[in-house]
Order: sequence, then C-alpha cells, then structure tokens
Amino acid sequence: MDLVDELVQKRDLPDEGLRELLSSSDDVMAAKLFKRARETAAEHFGREIYIRALIEWSNSCRNDCYYCGIRRSNHAIERYILSEEEILQCCGQAHEDGIRTFVLQGGENPVKAGELVGIVALIKKKYPDSAVTLSLGELPAELYAALREAGADRYLLRHETATPSHYAKLHPKEMSLENRLECLHELRKLGFQTGMGMMVGSPFQTPDHLIADLRLIRSFRPEMVGLGPFVPQKDTPFGTYPAGSADLTLRLYAIIRLMLPEAGIPATTALSSIIPNGHIRGIESGANVIMPNYTPLSRGKQYVLYDNKSRQDFHKIKTELNAAGYVVNPSRGDFKTNQYHV
Ligand code: SAH
Repeated sequence: MDLVDELVQKRDLPDEGLRELLSSSDDVMAAKLFKRARETAAEHFGREIYIRALIEWSNSCRNDCYYCGIRRSNHAIERYILSEEEILQCCGQAHEDGIRTFVLQGGENPVKAGELVGIVALIKKKYPDSAVTLSLGELPAELYAALREAGADRYLLRHETATPSHYAKLHPKEMSLENRLECLHELRKLGFQTGMGMMVGSPFQTPDHLIADLRLIRSFRPEMVGLGPFVPQKDTPFGTYPAGSADLTLRLYAIIRLMLPEAGIPATTALSSIIPNGHIRGIESGANVIMPNYTPLSRGKQYVLYDNKSRQDFHKIKTELNAAGYVVNPSRGDFKTNQYHV
C-alpha cells in the first residue's frame, strides 16, 4: 500500500509520510494524491462547488501582523468601514445572484464589530434563507456570543501556524497562539460552524510547522479549513519575502480533504492571485468552495491583505467552473453531519 492509499484508508499518516507527500518530487504520487482528493470530494459533494459571497467589511485593524497589508502600522492605505446600507446592498446583490451565504470579513476592531450585532440581525431578518459567516479576528467571548445570538452561523479564524515559536515570528508580542486557539474553542462552544487554517510558505515556515498544522487541524476537526499561499505586501515588514508555493498549497488541500472528507475547503483568492486558474486547480485538488467578491469596488481596492490580490467575479467563476465540468451550488451548504462532534 502506498502513502496515498494509506492516507485514504486511515485518514491519517505518520509524520514521515506527511513529510514525503508534502515534499516529494515524485509527480506520479502527487497526481494520485490530487486524484484521490477530488474523488473524495466528489463522494460527498458530487461535481457541486459551494459559493460564498465575500464582503470585505472593513480594513480598520488594531493588530500589527507582520505579513498583513491592513496592519495598523500601514499608513499607505485609506481606512474604511462599510455602512449598514452598503453591507445590505452587497447582501442584496449576492442574494439576487442566488447566493445564500454572506461572509463578512475584516480587520480586528472590537468596537466597530459591536455594531455588526444589529447588522447581522437585520441581514438574518431580511434573508432568513441565508447563512452569515463572520471573519473578524479575536473578539471578546461576550461579543462572539452576541453575534451568534444575532444569528451568525459560522466563523472563520485561521490559526496561522500551530507552532508557538513560529507564531511569534509572524506576530507582535501582544498576540499569542494560545489566545487564538482559545477563541476557536469558544466559537465552537457557542455553536458556530468553525473554520481554521494557515498561510502556506509564510516567512520562516518549515515542513515541520506544516505537519504541526495538519495535526492541529485533524484533532480540532473544524467544519471549514481556509488556506492559501503567503503573498508579500510591499508596505509590510515581510514585503520582500517570496510568495508561498502554489503546488504545496494544492497538496495541502488534497491532504486535508483526505483527512477531513466533509470539510468545507475554499480554493482561496490568494491561490488565484499567484497562479492562473487557481480556483479550478484548487477544486481539482480537493477544494469544494469558492468565495466570489461582492465588496464595492472602490472599498475592495483598499482591502490589501497582499499585493496583486485578484478579485473573483461570480459570473466569471460560474462560466469557468461549468466549462471544467462543475456546477455551482449557491445554497447555504451547511456542514453536512456533525459526526465529528459525537
Ligand atoms: N482579521 C481577521 C480576518 C482578515 S485577514 C482575522 O484575523 O482572522 C484574513 C486572512 O488573510 C488571515 O487569516 C491571513 O491568513 C490572510 N492573510 C493576511 N495577510 C496575508 C498575506 N500577506 N498573504 C496571504 N494571506 C494573508
């Protein structure tokens, strides 16, 4: 039995096996890994790809992550916060396109995020058939609870790296992996469908770090896993570091699909920003979600997590997916079973 078959069968591999899958130059093995991952996605989702409307709520952020273009020390961007009216307009447009999940993402700003409690309630009232996903960073437990109470269904909070010493190289000292993980546990406790994940090829990352990430993801069993390559942003401390590898990102999609067959795994914007056809390549490697952008154009231009960020248009993506033999499924697409939580 080869490593790919072993991973398919056991939903896991010893560290050495994972290391081999991540780094091997054996193209036949890599092709088999992608093929099995796509087959596993098809067993659960057929040829359907879930669609989530991404609304970049605000680039105002209290944090100073060394990799991120909306860090508070970046004075080269104009800060914005979408108004209630603008947010509802974005949701309305996505809803008109048939999309039944709205993702509100933004910098970490607990004061302004407080205002989202009422806005989430409004969205849920106006669109009771739709899910709301939030991605707003580390907030006080009471605020998470209030947002959940208002009707938010899901929360994305990437752990970024599961190795504390690596975490400390990517973030200023007031931030900690411990707090990030506490937030993830809190979110799960509140009943959010929860997403975690990391950047691939962030500065100082080693294969051991990625193996630790896979171990953490496998043990937490999130409903969603978001990962994309690190991409430099020129006005940050990591502005001159090289971007992460697309191939490694694709291998990680595949490995995670085989570890957690039912997870929602987006082919992320970062991947599409560094290779042509990134979303299709992501899907072919086991991803099953795409997040087209519904942020008003002028605002979205200021949401510069990294340079040359692509903007995914729903109609364009739909045409491309159809041409590649997939169908879009714009329904809520909730995590199917909660078998992991028994
Ligand atoms: N502030 C929120 C969400 C916004 S950032 C939070 O902390 O969760 C969303 C994600 O973008 C981050 O989790 C990070 O993994 C990713 N990101 C930020 N800067 C990036 C960069 N330079 N390259 C690639 N991804 C980046």
